[in-house]
Amino acid sequence: MRDTLKTKTPHRSGTVPSLSVLPNHPSLIWLTGALAFMEGSPFEWTRQDLVDWFTEYLVSPGLMPRPPIAREPDATSVSLDPRADCGGNVAELLTRSRRRVIAALRGIIAPIVDDRFLNAALYSSRVQRAEMNGRPVWMPSPRETNCLSDIVLSLFAANILMDREYFQAHLCICKTCERIFFRQSRDREDTCDEHTPLQGTDGATSELRLTANTRR
Ligand SMILES: [Zn+2]
Repeated sequence: MRDTLKTKTPHRSGTVPSLSVLPNHPSLIWLTGALAFMEGSPFEWTRQDLVDWFTEYLVSPGLMPRPPIAREPDATSVSLDPRADCGGNVAELLTRSRRRVIAALRGIIAPIVDDRFLNAALYSSRVQRAEMNGRPVWMPSPRETNCLSDIVLSLFAANILMDREYFQAHLCICKTCERIFFRQSRDREDTCDEHTPLQGTDGATSELRLTANTRR
């Protein structure tokens, strides 16, 4: 599947927190999966891309079985069974789902923090305490009945619960294109490289780019 993904032109590569913050932590795949979901134009995603995303970041790591359908409030559900009719519109589903994810993440970095999505994930057990290689971690535990945005948010939530300060200090969301990225400092307006006038180098250039996260 990875080979299939690599044949596609990456829309952009995501940036992830410095590995010095999360040193070789196995949970980094959760963040990678969450960022991969937010990558590329939703109009470029096919149902198979969505199935592949579930397989790679949720099913293979053992977080959840693949749900029969992907659902989101106010969007027609999309069947994830290749033998069945798609049902809904993948682009519409992804657009609504991402919109909800972005709104939740903005709350984390807002001047007046709104972290209700973390509490919702905790109370509904979409994240749970676990131990990984002898270390306490928060583990995403989404269920097949969860809507797509809640599944994605469970991946973000597990990482944010383990290092909330890092996310609040470095997480950026481009105000123009809503791209998610990480900067050394957030002392200026949040615009990604593409939407920032060229003025030499900035903090983003010194950060690690995860080449695996090149899902269009
Ligand atoms: Zn942008």
